[in-house]
Amino acid sequence: MNPKVYKNQLLAQRQLQRQRMLSSLQQRDITNPAVLQAMGNVPREAFVARALHSNAYEDRVLPIGEQQTISMPSVVGAMTQALDIQRNHKVLEIGTGSGYQAAVLAEMVRRVFSIERYSSLSDQAQQVLGELGYTNLIYKVGDGTLGWPEQAPFDRIIITAAAPEVPQALLEQLAPEGILVAPVGPVQTDAIQTLMRYTKQADGSVEETKLGKVQFVPLVGKQGVAA
Ligand code: SAM
Repeated sequence: MNPKVYKNQLLAQRQLQRQRMLSSLQQRDITNPAVLQAMGNVPREAFVARALHSNAYEDRVLPIGEQQTISMPSVVGAMTQALDIQRNHKVLEIGTGSGYQAAVLAEMVRRVFSIERYSSLSDQAQQVLGELGYTNLIYKVGDGTLGWPEQAPFDRIIITAAAPEVPQALLEQLAPEGILVAPVGPVQTDAIQTLMRYTKQADGSVEETKLGKVQFVPLVGKQGVAA
């Protein structure tokens, strides 16, 4: 087949898969139009190895190297929706990983800060996000459990790895009326965590809401799990 025709057919197929993913997200109560639009704009296949492109829109985690994973679309959708994002928000992501969640956030706000502990994953994510044309992401390689004090406070913080407790440094770097969403709970192999939303009140106190059950790789760092 003509390579150009083949490429166009493949693009149309991925677009159809993305539309089906959006329909299944809506059936799971992910209905925020801005979240759906962002996830509809990001080509998820770009964030996984070529051999996994045909699996990119299935609702499951996929390997990205360094024994880490790209989160399943329904969890990305649920976490992004729980953040209740406005376009002017300054957002911090802990765990850049493949860069997919960062791309979804970058579709929704002016500036996204993202920290990853593996430089190999950060480099790869930066390359993909650059090729896709995202210019509103600022990256750091390091221990995200300590946050990014020089850039704080953040209106929204998303932690895409699990720890028994939410790092205090990240709660401190949350702006008044800010929201932090994170998986919290045990981290041994196959453990299940609770997806938590922390909302900082005007007086500095923090309100906690349980959002459901999830399964994440460990948040490894000084205020997370020991390496
Ligand atoms: N958001 C990612 C995506 O869209 O692909 C999913 C990331 S994966 C579930 C969790 C990521 O958190 C891994 O890449 C892991 O290396 C990273 N991570 C774990 N502990 C970290 C820490 N203390 N600081 C920064 N990144 C960390």
